[in-house]
Amino acid sequence: MILKAEKIKKSYSTSGELLQILKGLDFQISKGEMISITGPSGCGKSTLLNILGTLDSPDSGSLEICGKKVFSLDDNSISKLRMEKIGFVFQFHHLLPEFTVLENLMIPQRLMKVNEKKAKDRSLELLDKVGLSFRANHRPATISGGERQRVAVLRALANSPSIVLADEPTGNLDLESASHLMDMIASLADTFDKAFVIATHNPSVAMICKKNLEISNGLLKNISKVS
Ligand code: ADP
Ligand code: MG
Repeated sequence: MILKAEKIKKSYSTSGELLQILKGLDFQISKGEMISITGPSGCGKSTLLNILGTLDSPDSGSLEICGKKVFSLDDNSISKLRMEKIGFVFQFHHLLPEFTVLENLMIPQRLMKVNEKKAKDRSLELLDKVGLSFRANHRPATISGGERQRVAVLRALANSPSIVLADEPTGNLDLESASHLMDMIASLADTFDKAFVIATHNPSVAMICKKNLEISNGLLKNISKVS
């Protein structure tokens, strides 16, 4: 098991009212699994992903990542665990505009003190795997929206995390680019045996994942595939 969350509760108080978003939710994912999390806007998808990614804390519940009980660690150890084990993809690519595609892939590795040659080789390998080598020396502004988001997924994989959490990764893409991105994620999950969690409000994006969950009334439920 790469990640296991149990009895996660989270509420927000807005204008004096307590809003219960997650109500004791359980989630787990193993190596190589690709799981979608759907549900209407506001149901708590981002809240859940932020908690799974250790970017936010729940009110109660437990979280274990690669055998480590997250809430018993100090802040430094949690940051280290996050850097080593978790990759993030968001709706907006967040690539650094003044750097090339290749440099954008090398930056997270530099932060982990990987040497330049290794970081470059790894970045070129990732680009090659998805047919984007020809964009290596381009700046983000000069490639398409779909390509930018594919580079953002590669960047999330740069430090070989155990799990990638993607929050509405296709939210800004047209249908064709969205399906291209999802096919790429599926093939990378397979090639590198990574775990991917994809939060999306788009059911057709979700259906590319092998396992489909939905947040309903603060809990996760399995939804069966329409075949
Ligand atoms: P989703 O990603 O499924 O659209 P979110 O997890 O972003 O949903 O939000 C779930 C609910 O929690 C929404 O009603 C949202 O307004 C509320 N919410 C999220 N973050 C906060 C916050 N920091 N303070 C107050 N309410 C919040
Ligand atoms: Mg969201």
